[in-house]
Amino acid sequence: MNSSIANNIAHVQAQIWAACQAAGRAPGSVHLLAVSKTWGPDAVRQAHAAGLTAFGENYIQEAVDKITALHDLPLQWHCIGPIQSNKTRLVAEHFDWVHSVDRLKIAQRLSEQRPAHLPPLQVCIQVNVDGGQTKSGVSPQELPALAQAVAALPRLQLRGLMTIPEPAPSQAQMRSVHAQAQALFEALRQQGLPLDTLSMGMSGDMAAAIAEGSTLVRVGTAIFGQR
Ligand SMILES: *Cc1c(COP(=O)(O)O)cnc(C)c1O
Repeated sequence: MNSSIANNIAHVQAQIWAACQAAGRAPGSVHLLAVSKTWGPDAVRQAHAAGLTAFGENYIQEAVDKITALHDLPLQWHCIGPIQSNKTRLVAEHFDWVHSVDRLKIAQRLSEQRPAHLPPLQVCIQVNVDGGQTKSGVSPQELPALAQAVAALPRLQLRGLMTIPEPAPSQAQMRSVHAQAQALFEALRQQGLPLDTLSMGMSGDMAAAIAEGSTLVRVGTAIFGQR
């Protein structure tokens, strides 16, 4: 058995721990989501054997096949990719979390289609903090109204925000984009929304994200290798 996934996980956990130390935060305050897109069920089994239980997927049909193949394990599945209207039912039926809600129509469909026997779908709103033209995500201006509307849907539980900023040329610039996301997150909490999840940081910007308040990092390459 290839043990490099277990070694990589140990290394990532050490990096999270060090970033928490540097920021004066408790190590348990940052969750690790293993992004398993493009990797098969065996890679997920290895990561689970090394102690991980939460996995992130971008491509809905690929994810559903994997979720089905891994039904014997107690895993939590997070949808982190763009969602077309015709895929909301699959997402509502198979996932535990969705990080990539960026418009009300998608949220409404997810709420309507969430099966009654499952707990509410845990949701983050994707916000386009750095204004990338081609990117999905709601603008900071539109965020407050969308957050209030999503929080009112019966079969969704709004947990927080997700960001995918462009890589910045310096650590300071990366941190400043993450700090803007954190400020939006705090503003929503001030408005009374009980949010606890700031999904921010990937293999390349984990430390900067943790320094600026991330509570969940989504890590693919640093765990499974280059896709
Ligand atoms: C692929 C992906 C990740 C993981 O990126 P790595 O650089 O491989 O760690 C995280 N979040 C989202 C939304 C992704 O699409």
